[in-house]
Amino acid sequence: ADLDTLDIIVLAAILLGTVAYFTKGKLWGVQKDPYASSFAAANGAKAGKTRNIVEKLEESGKDCIIFYGSQTGTAEDYASRLAKEGKSRFGLETMVADLEDFDYDNLDAIPSDKVVMFVLATYGEGEPTDNAVDFYEFITGDSPQFTLDNEVPLGNLNYVAFGLGNNTYEHYNSMVRNVNKALEKLGAHRIGEAGEGDDGAGTMEEDFLAWKDPMWKALAEKLNLEEREAVYEPIFGIVERDNLTPESAEVYVGEPNRMHLDGTPKGPFNAHNPYIAPIAESYELFNVKDRNCIHMEIDISGSNLTYQTGDHIAVWPTNPGEEVDRFLRVLGLDSKRNDVVSVKALEPTAKVPFPTPTTFDAIVRYHMEICAPVSRQFLATLAPFAPTEDIKTEMAKLGGDKDYFHDKINVHHLNIGRVLEIFGKGNKWTNVPFSAFIEGITKLQPRYYSISSSSLEQPKKVSITAVVEEQQLPGRDDPFRGVATNYLLALKQKQNGDPNPSPYGLTYEITGPRNKYDGIHVPVHVRHSNFKLPSDPLKPIIMVGPGTGVAPFRGFVRERVKMAQNGQAVGKTILFFGCRKSTEDFLYEKEWEEAKKVLGDNFEIVTAFSREGSKKVYVQHRLKQRSKEINDLLEQKAYFYVCGDAANMAREVNTILGQIIAENRGIPEAKAEEIVKSIRASNQYQEDVW
Ligand code: FAD
Repeated sequence: ADLDTLDIIVLAAILLGTVAYFTKGKLWGVQKDPYASSFAAANGAKAGKTRNIVEKLEESGKDCIIFYGSQTGTAEDYASRLAKEGKSRFGLETMVADLEDFDYDNLDAIPSDKVVMFVLATYGEGEPTDNAVDFYEFITGDSPQFTLDNEVPLGNLNYVAFGLGNNTYEHYNSMVRNVNKALEKLGAHRIGEAGEGDDGAGTMEEDFLAWKDPMWKALAEKLNLEEREAVYEPIFGIVERDNLTPESAEVYVGEPNRMHLDGTPKGPFNAHNPYIAPIAESYELFNVKDRNCIHMEIDISGSNLTYQTGDHIAVWPTNPGEEVDRFLRVLGLDSKRNDVVSVKALEPTAKVPFPTPTTFDAIVRYHMEICAPVSRQFLATLAPFAPTEDIKTEMAKLGGDKDYFHDKINVHHLNIGRVLEIFGKGNKWTNVPFSAFIEGITKLQPRYYSISSSSLEQPKKVSITAVVEEQQLPGRDDPFRGVATNYLLALKQKQNGDPNPSPYGLTYEITGPRNKYDGIHVPVHVRHSNFKLPSDPLKPIIMVGPGTGVAPFRGFVRERVKMAQNGQAVGKTILFFGCRKSTEDFLYEKEWEEAKKVLGDNFEIVTAFSREGSKKVYVQHRLKQRSKEINDLLEQKAYFYVCGDAANMAREVNTILGQIIAENRGIPEAKAEEIVKSIRASNQYQEDVW
């Protein structure tokens, strides 16, 4: 109870501070904290958590709960944006919630003057995201059991739905579609349309923006809300902790959680808790100067992590120093980068997305996706805080005009720091409350990689095969560079003897917070997948994996080699691989020769080099050339696997497979497509695409 009182005092202090910010226009809403030490105590205390939605809404005085099912952070980000907009435009009391944190059996007890929003990403093969699995199974189940015995089970429930999907995948936006159907069937009332954003077409953000305006209109009508002049209210209070330095034991300088800060990281290692894994070995796979592909062996023997061939490993990157510097510089925070601050949610349902007390440097370097695409809506939010009237007008235009935004920002792949730098014209953005950045920038996300080793061969070592992201863009002197892959490249260079690696001029805090990653470590966790070899090793397999799509198939082939070496008979194993040139980017060329020695005729690699002949040849062409053989193997119940590029390759392979079946079995293409669908449904055809 003591802590609760402190909590209230501290909150009041921060609220006063926030008011002071608005009246005096102080720097980024950072306040001196008169209660610094009591704050520390209060900040560490956890309020009792309920899994009961109705109770939560009641006790927090909320009218609207926005659930997200998110894998890469975008759905979560959209949920926060809806919460903010509801509050600022309509005074709606909103809260954001992880689907995983609540039970759903009393969705029927939510009063009809409230609204529940679902922002749901579809993952992989039409699956729910990890945090939405339980909800999805419950709501789409045969007869979900609710607490009340209503004739129309969800007759009281008002809901709003938006889905995030990718039209290059077979089951486009199936999460939102199926949930929407289930809710309708249960008698719930949808407000507005069930929106769908399409990452495949690159229109996710615009789809979201176009969907939400009519939705708000319908919602305002339904709940009798009155629109007001939108006012920005910070969700987080930032309190300077003058008595602390980055060296103080309780200060997070990039540690992902308390255990890591205390120096006692323990499993389970997962999306909330990475394992700081030693890198056993790393080397370059390409034979060209300007393109890189890294093979990295990650040692998990010191952890309780396990994996199976075909699983994914997540790498937790840190941002490049140059972008961290740029961001802090344009905000006028560079001289304060190592100042210690505590961040506290100013409203009880909001969660601070990183541990504190911490420093601005650590927040930006380890926790914010500062290099990612900028959201148009976010620029509109920042406009009122622009350093000059002219810049304000320009920012409002960028935020309001889709085409203008596209031309000025999207095509150049500008990130937020670059936007503020370019459009700020040398001015610093000191008027923006730092809270706006915490709210408006996604959490730095781990990147997934298809594991390229075999767990049979090396159960405690995981390998990845990652191509380094780089794109030349019009109107930019420096090429765009991906966050995680360039970080991996720097790690590789360091491991191979460069004490201060700076791949393409980018530098990273490679030794990690408090040098805990020194001796060459990388934070990771493992995600289990359904992409698996057949349990019967005699079954033939056909693998299609151009470029880094070959990653899991290296694991598959090595697994079969190991089985053969153990005296087991293995079935026909065919790999279709493609790249530009046999002399440049032919991944694992030597290893295939080794595999051939062990597996003999049971292993074959079919290659397609797109830049060697006069005509471009891709794996798709090779499949067609092997039409009869592929059909024969499929008739022998061969497993068919595709990995790599989702946008073009995987789709075309799917189509070609239909043609192969039609041609060889003398059936119409429509019928063949049905067969392809059914072999997919039975898992005989599996995809691992991104
Ligand atoms: P990021 O910085 O995340 O950039 C990625 C892309 O986002 C860019 O190319 C660009 O198109 C866009 N983008 C980023 N910032 C901006 C901006 N400011 N403006 C506009 N556009 C922007 N990759 C492999 O190499 N090997 C694998 O085996 C592999 N397996 C995977 C398995 C799964 C299940 C998934 C989901 C992905 C896999 N990937 C794999 C891809 C990998 O996860 C990463 O996406 C990839 O390495 C790029 O990460 P990055 O941080 O370097 O690039």
